[in-house]
Amino acid sequence: MRSYGYAVVDAIVEHFENQHTKPPVAVASRKEMDSLFLEAAPEKPSDANEVLQFVLDNVMTKSAIVSHPKSYSFVPGPSNYISTMADTLATGFNIFSGGWVASPAAAELEIVTLQWLLKIFGFPQKKGGGIFTSGGSMANLTAIVTARRVKCGDDFSNAVIYLSDQAHSSNIKAIRILGFRKEQIRIIPTDSEFKFSVNKLKNAIAKDRIEGMHPFCLVATAGTTNTGTVDPLSALSKICKEEDIWFHIDGAYGGAAILAKDGKQLLKGVNKADSLTVDPHKWFFQPYEMGCLLVKNHKWLKSTFTEKPEYLRDVEGNESEINFYDHGVQLTRRFRALKFYMSIKTFGLKSFRKAITYNIDLAERAEKHLRKSKNWEIISPATLAVINFRFNPIGNSFSEKKLDALNQRISEKVIQSEEALLVTTVLNGQVVLRMCLINPRTTFENIKETLAVCESFAEILETA
Ligand SMILES: *Cc1c(COP(=O)(O)O)cnc(C)c1O
Repeated sequence: MRSYGYAVVDAIVEHFENQHTKPPVAVASRKEMDSLFLEAAPEKPSDANEVLQFVLDNVMTKSAIVSHPKSYSFVPGPSNYISTMADTLATGFNIFSGGWVASPAAAELEIVTLQWLLKIFGFPQKKGGGIFTSGGSMANLTAIVTARRVKCGDDFSNAVIYLSDQAHSSNIKAIRILGFRKEQIRIIPTDSEFKFSVNKLKNAIAKDRIEGMHPFCLVATAGTTNTGTVDPLSALSKICKEEDIWFHIDGAYGGAAILAKDGKQLLKGVNKADSLTVDPHKWFFQPYEMGCLLVKNHKWLKSTFTEKPEYLRDVEGNESEINFYDHGVQLTRRFRALKFYMSIKTFGLKSFRKAITYNIDLAERAEKHLRKSKNWEIISPATLAVINFRFNPIGNSFSEKKLDALNQRISEKVIQSEEALLVTTVLNGQVVLRMCLINPRTTFENIKETLAVCESFAEILETA
């Protein structure tokens, strides 16, 4: 067990130390993967070290390195070593993080770390609550179920939910899972800066009221995945208050930016939400999987998710001893709080603030650099460490169609070259390159190198 474990740790440490020297992308077809791995479940055992070596050689090398300094898409996963070891401990001891009786310490650490987050986001410490989930998708689902329970009870036949066209797809997925009909979903167009259009929202709510519908929930985004844009949170909160609508903020991407001065400014009003999704496995630098839902009143979660079967009779503690299976979908849950606890204790919040501030500044530096070049056009400026731009040299006479194709091809070429993971998105119908710079390992030099590679491909493509 020891030598096997040391070999695993050695491999992980080697990965952390040398990842920047490896290609960030992994391209392989199903056929290639099948030829490597496909076999019937073996009846006979194999040598443990041989299996391990096979996995290290073939599995770990065929995955994108999302913590690579030149991994700019989609949302990088910078992770950190302390949390990696914390996850290893949680798995090694196989701690059941569902109920107080099974592990009072795991429940307590979830309570404590949720308290930290409640304080960071300006939510009420005593009344507030939350739960750690597998990710942002599950946190959004948990939020929308809770909103529906609290605002609609059992009858949600007329309930209507509002979100912008920049809201993350996981929200639509959640709404579908919950069995809402298409007529119950309003996707409100964003304005020219990709923000929720308050006027269009008010029109939609008013029209729904006239038609006897029941507006019950609004999903705003604090840091859209596409552009890092923060919706007008205070204005939306006011509408929700007046209309008795649940105010959910999806801060899965941008929430962590509250730890930086500029981020805090941008996220003003985030504390006005009834529920807030954050995603520690993004910009809080935790390894997968860790999402989080915070709510203004912890009783909302309990009244939504508590179900009392006879076999759980003996595990009920007293009121203050939280059973997190009562706060969300999962009964058996892994011990996610441990990595958050150990990494914050080890590094201190100050290190997190420093890293996040660095990321925000880095995107702004990239923007300045791009603006000085005759080749590049900024499509959406650096916001919460996201920047969108396209190759569009001064004085060219390319059609929009040609520009789209050119930028698409640049991204494809970059990925083929394995130089960087840089993919496109579409903004206002234009194909653009998007950099998400939440990895503290990414340097300004890395960005300049990648842009130079893009330019050299563009030159070849232009003349082709
Ligand atoms: C990433 C993201 C999600 C989904 O989170 P997962 O952790 O991938 O499930 C939801 N909303 C936003 C805004 C995101 O950026």
